[in-house]
Amino acid sequence: MEKILNFILIGRSGCGKGTQADLLMKHFGNLHHFSTGDMFRALAKADTAVGAKIREIVSKGGLPLDDIATSLWMYEISFNLKQDEGLLADGFPRRLPEAENLDRFLEFLERKDATSPILLDISRQEAFDRLTKRRICQKCGKLIPWVGEYKKLEACDECGGELVTRPDDTEGAINNRLDYYEENVAPIVDYYEKQGRLIRVDGDQPIEKVFEDILAALKRIYG
Ligand SMILES: [Zn+2]
Repeated sequence: MEKILNFILIGRSGCGKGTQADLLMKHFGNLHHFSTGDMFRALAKADTAVGAKIREIVSKGGLPLDDIATSLWMYEISFNLKQDEGLLADGFPRRLPEAENLDRFLEFLERKDATSPILLDISRQEAFDRLTKRRICQKCGKLIPWVGEYKKLEACDECGGELVTRPDDTEGAINNRLDYYEENVAPIVDYYEKQGRLIRVDGDQPIEKVFEDILAALKRIYG
């Protein structure tokens, strides 16, 4: 039987994690996508004390308690990851202690050696530009990223609707998110890099090229 591969996607907001997650899913066919973003959105809808607290924190632009993130992914993986599925971690770990927790969990599952952290590397300036300049269609809601050919679009390529920037993509909110990355996520990148496990890919390339680089790196590691 072929080895079941597992992935941890890392990168600044706007680096294209969602797109590369989709491509990995299509390519491998047996990956189970776990996104803490999705988990928190579901939790924020819950009629519970924690749900209410999350709504309050998120409305002020804050970040929920990190221990909740760990509890959520551990729970979701425990109840949903099948034996013949690979794990695709998106949005976690977000802090060093969480990365250590995830490693212990992967060791417990005997999957640590078959898990590759992938950094989609874009500079802070590039992330800032992508997040402040990306647009949304007022008619159909399609999100138009600030990359490549999309920059030239003057109207929605789906429905012709008018394109506007999103009101919550303010410079302040975006700088907060990028600061969080420098303080908390960057140490995780170092942690994986020191262990020689990190796959670093230049995220400032066309989508297809980024994915090609990921596959080439995986081939070098796993054959
Ligand atoms: Zn549209």
